[in-house]
Amino acid sequence: MSSELLETIVGDAKRIGISGHIHPDGDSVGAVLGCYLYLKNMLPDSEIYPYLEAPGRSFRMLTGIDKIRSDFQFPEEPFDVFISVDCGSRDRLGACEEAFQAAKKTVNIDHHITNTGFADVNHVEAYSSSTCEVLFGLMNPDAIDLPTAEALYIGIMHDTGVFKYSCTSEKTMKIAGYLMSKGIDTADLIDRSFYMKSFTQLKALGFALNKAELVLGGKAIVSILRINDMDKLGITIADTEGIVSELRTTEGVECAVFVREEAPETFKFSLRSNGKVDVSVISSSFDGGGHRMAAGFTAKGELDGILTQLYAMIMLQL
Ligand code: 5GP
Ligand code: MN
Repeated sequence: MSSELLETIVGDAKRIGISGHIHPDGDSVGAVLGCYLYLKNMLPDSEIYPYLEAPGRSFRMLTGIDKIRSDFQFPEEPFDVFISVDCGSRDRLGACEEAFQAAKKTVNIDHHITNTGFADVNHVEAYSSSTCEVLFGLMNPDAIDLPTAEALYIGIMHDTGVFKYSCTSEKTMKIAGYLMSKGIDTADLIDRSFYMKSFTQLKALGFALNKAELVLGGKAIVSILRINDMDKLGITIADTEGIVSELRTTEGVECAVFVREEAPETFKFSLRSNGKVDVSVISSSFDGGGHRMAAGFTAKGELDGILTQLYAMIMLQL
């Protein structure tokens, strides 16, 4: 594993691509933006292309967010270097997968325990709270400016549930403290990015909580959101983020499951654990991935059958 600084890993590359994962969460947004802003400062003569599906409203306040390319237009020549951030596997790069593969040098910076090591340079720290925490370790701290600090802070904040999940270490807090010293208005950033919800998001949460059911004798909770429901309520995919974390807070529950119907017979599963169940193992067996306490997968087929299989796997760990 490389422990060189980002600018050293990138070398004299003139054309650099960066991308996070499909359906980006806060860590992906923060990592793509933080990596972009830092490299732009360090390598003013290089062209840097940060790609990601359009970041949600929770990230609009970030300086430089308008530089993210959600059109997935690539230069004609291959990239000298393509950096994947926060992706456990290459297919998670979505629209960037081909451009990544075609790059002269590929870099994989991540913290997923299920990471497949798919690049020329793989820097994976499975016990880091977030990819943004990993990225911080690859940067010269003195060269981090306020916009870069905000991007990294937001990623750490989202992947730790505002410094609360068990992935939050002493090191995480030290890094967050250092980033804070760059001048971040943390109270405002945390509130605007993490706690504030749109009205539809609030409605989506209410709907999903109302539909939730306890299974496995109260040890697991599941809520299913159908395309029909989403259409009726005007809910978008982005509005469903955070629902599974709320399900997890139910007393007595070891594992929370949120299922979103993506297409007929295609379902996106989000899993959260309260400690006993390793949901990354379960998700991996469905060709997904993630972390011990938070993981996910997409499954095709008849929902009842998939749920039966899933409950059996959870039960094995209870
Ligand atoms: P979420 O439930 O918020 O979508 O994802 C939780 C964690 O699991 C994230 O770290 C995410 O990257 C990972 N994850 C979710 N779905 C998938 C998937 O289909 N494949 C892989 N490899 N990881 C996933
Ligand atoms: Mn992450």
